[in-house]
Amino acid sequence: MEKVVIIGSGCAGLTAALYTARANLRPLVITGTHPGGLLATTTVVENYPGFPEGIDGYELMARMQKQAERFGARVKFGTVEAVDMSGQPLGLTVDGEPVQTQTIIIASGASHRRLGLESERELENKGVTYCATCDGALPLFRNQPLVVVGGGDSACEEAMYLTRFGSVVYLVHRRDTLRASKIMAERALGNPKIKPVWDSVVTEVLDVKAGKVAGVRVQNLKTHAESVIQCAGLFVAIGHMPNTRLFRGVIEMDENGYILPSHGTATNVPGVFVAGDCADHVYRQAVTAAGLGCAAAIETERFLAAKSE
Ligand code: NAP
Repeated sequence: MEKVVIIGSGCAGLTAALYTARANLRPLVITGTHPGGLLATTTVVENYPGFPEGIDGYELMARMQKQAERFGARVKFGTVEAVDMSGQPLGLTVDGEPVQTQTIIIASGASHRRLGLESERELENKGVTYCATCDGALPLFRNQPLVVVGGGDSACEEAMYLTRFGSVVYLVHRRDTLRASKIMAERALGNPKIKPVWDSVVTEVLDVKAGKVAGVRVQNLKTHAESVIQCAGLFVAIGHMPNTRLFRGVIEMDENGYILPSHGTATNVPGVFVAGDCADHVYRQAVTAAGLGCAAAIETERFLAAKSE
């Protein structure tokens, strides 16, 4: 029987692991399909305190894991397929294997949002991608025009990163101002290789028949005019959706699937706590996720202490 199982290995999960490990609870961390979470796919992280020069996202996550393991956390690569939260002990199925535990910290994070186009789905991994850091350096994108969709920090970051590889990067945004933080917006718009395409949405990715991205059809929402931007890659950076499907109907969540803690990091199920992007649609920062991971760990420790009294 485990004392603590942590679902997710991003900033929230690994910080919760560090704290529960230091409380001698020997947490078991189930990584999910993307160890290190979304941050592990980021280039340089400039706003995590303690790294004045910035730090590579993958390296930051690798260090967090090492730090948690140093105090006894066990990190297992795997996916939680089912949960049974009907009573104590709590149950999980991890890659077909049953696991019983007294507490769970849900730190399952969020995934990339998709445009929802049929052609986008057909051309995924054939030029359509959701991660410039992962795929930007691929030969098919070298010295080619590229398109990024979105107006937030992610879109700006991806567009700037892609200027290293593409001949030009079109930033297609549905409004005429960026949502991104001022510093990111200024950097992106000041980059001569980035061409903003305002008030526009991608309506189709070309060329499904050819089995590769050759361009995108774009519609201007103000004039309704349609045009085609030729490109070899489409990078979709339009935000995220919480990874909470597994807990639907059991853990309270809002209409968008973000978990609603009942108080602090506690959920409506005793012994189940939550931290990070799966419960935060407001801040969504590495440092806030880490902070919430710490809070969830402390509350888990108190829950277990009260139980054993
Ligand atoms: P975001 O801030 O939610 O921005 C999503 C963008 O996509 C918005 O501009 C939105 O348009 C657009 N969008 C949403 N749905 C769309 C659709 N169906 N079609 C077309 N466009 C759509 O997401 P994010 O950029 O991923 O950032 C998430 C959080 O992470 C933020 O808090 C951000 O500050 C943080 N972050 C920070 C850094 C950094 O500091 N280095 C880097 C990346 C992310 P509207 O603007 O019209 O809503």
